[in-house]
Amino acid sequence: MIPPGETIGILGGGQLGRMLAMAAAQLGYRAHVYAPEADSIAAEVCGDFTCAGWYDGEALAKFAKACAVVTYEFENVPVPPLAALGATAVLPGPNALEIAQDRVSEKRFAEKLGGCPAKWAQVDGPGDLDVALAAVGTPGILKTRRDGYDGKGQWRIASDDEAKALELPSKPLVYEALVDFACEFSVIVVRGADGDVRFWDSAQNVHKGGILAHSAVPASALVLAQLGEARDLAAKAAAALDYVGVLTLEFFATAQGPVFNEMAPRVHNSGHWTIEGAVTSQFENHIRAICGLPLGDTALAAKRVEMRNVIGGDDTGWAAEDWAAILGDPANHLHLYGKAAVRPGRKMGHVTRLTLS
Ligand code: AMP
Repeated sequence: MIPPGETIGILGGGQLGRMLAMAAAQLGYRAHVYAPEADSIAAEVCGDFTCAGWYDGEALAKFAKACAVVTYEFENVPVPPLAALGATAVLPGPNALEIAQDRVSEKRFAEKLGGCPAKWAQVDGPGDLDVALAAVGTPGILKTRRDGYDGKGQWRIASDDEAKALELPSKPLVYEALVDFACEFSVIVVRGADGDVRFWDSAQNVHKGGILAHSAVPASALVLAQLGEARDLAAKAAAALDYVGVLTLEFFATAQGPVFNEMAPRVHNSGHWTIEGAVTSQFENHIRAICGLPLGDTALAAKRVEMRNVIGGDDTGWAAEDWAAILGDPANHLHLYGKAAVRPGRKMGHVTRLTLS
């Protein structure tokens, strides 16, 4: 058990790191952010900041010496340099990062545990696309295997002719069938160092342009009917990885049951509602888990909870500059991440609304 007063290292300097650091502070820990960008919004709320590259072994080793445990908020942290962290525990383990960084490993991992991703095929080079199209059919989505997030690195393909016209990047890709889903949902689970596993209520998620726009709990009856199977996969994934911390699995709810989309070995945007909407938030339970503390109650703290992302340039009426109007409604809980520049598609913050009765 890591006692209060010790330092928790966070790899990655974005909003997830910021909210993790705030939860760590609440429990009496210091946080030390390690990130390559100088304008880290997580570092702003931390006592210590190392600004250095992911491959800077010396900086990583020095950072690790200052931390009782190291976690990450960014799933594309390169894994090989983490060896420089030496004896300092990295939780969740880098094995979860390795799998989640590659869409093919992730799908194979889910399949091995009994999960069902959309029909897929590897596209290692331009010659493989025809074979993939023949095997999977159209419509489909071609995705980069690595480094994709928020719908980036994705191409929708409606027909073989459309595929021929595409200029493919020279990166490993994966082609998957377009899923005819009723809605999207996520399963967020926390696993303690002792193997204790708890789930939050699952949010029903709406994405716009590949970016999460809105999460609501409780989810619809259709999602609730698919939760048993989806949670079973999440629990198996956490156990298989000997996972410690918060893990997120995203699903499509379809007439054939839950279709696995992807896994994030970290706290997740679709769980931001838990800060006010659950007895214990995903951020606090992640800190509790990696520090070896007992997990907090994940029960809903309201009848209904809604979370909307404040996205730069969004056309939903939730533009970042509307913050005063958002605060004008006393039911709103506004979280702004302190990002200086508003850019289209950039997550600037989120707003949570609770319905208490
Ligand atoms: P991803 O980065 O894979 O989570 O994709 C971002 C969003 O694109 C998802 O949340 C879905 O809204 C959509 N999407 C991704 N893959 C598929 C698919 N195979 N079928 C239908 N929609 C998809």
